[in-house]
Amino acid sequence: MFLENNFTGSKLSGCIEVITGSMFSGKTEELIRRIKRAEIAKQNVGIYKPEIDKRYSEKNVVSHDAKSISAIPVQSAKDIIELSKNNEVVGIDEAQFFENDLVEVCNHLANTGKRVIVAALDMDFKGNPFGPVPQLMAIAEYVTKVHAICMRCGNLAHYSHRLSDTEKLVILGEKDIYEPLCRTCYTKAIEGKNKEPELFDNI
Ligand code: ZN
Repeated sequence: MFLENNFTGSKLSGCIEVITGSMFSGKTEELIRRIKRAEIAKQNVGIYKPEIDKRYSEKNVVSHDAKSISAIPVQSAKDIIELSKNNEVVGIDEAQFFENDLVEVCNHLANTGKRVIVAALDMDFKGNPFGPVPQLMAIAEYVTKVHAICMRCGNLAHYSHRLSDTEKLVILGEKDIYEPLCRTCYTKAIEGKNKEPELFDNI
């Protein structure tokens, strides 16, 4: 499994790394780990996140276990280009909430020599690929999928199952709204909600 580029010594060449998985899979912890190591290597780092993510604090990227690191909220992915001019390493958290132009922005940053590390949910609560994330995974040099633990059986979890019934796509999650589930338990949970599983609705 890819863990991390070894960027010691000479000038960096740009690249894109994607860290992705379900809720509670440790994506943000892994982003923070890589950014802190870049700081130890005395690289100029910047972290950005969409303004929508106001769960904990305006300025910090905070993982669920309360590790935090300073981040700049931006309204659109394009804002990152100007703000990250002096960064050698650009971290982007909660990237699923950006528009599709994030893909172009990440390519631009990497093409100008920056190491871009993106943390994002891979799927929404319906199990569909989330926003710009599938395209980012396709163009990235390195993709790391991390997993949570299934709340029902203890296997590796792949899905973010929403416990409430609302259809709204953007609900920023806490443990009482989402539970990580493996494929088997997720399928059972969805079947329990609808007699006809929604996976087959369109077939
Ligand atoms: Zn399970």
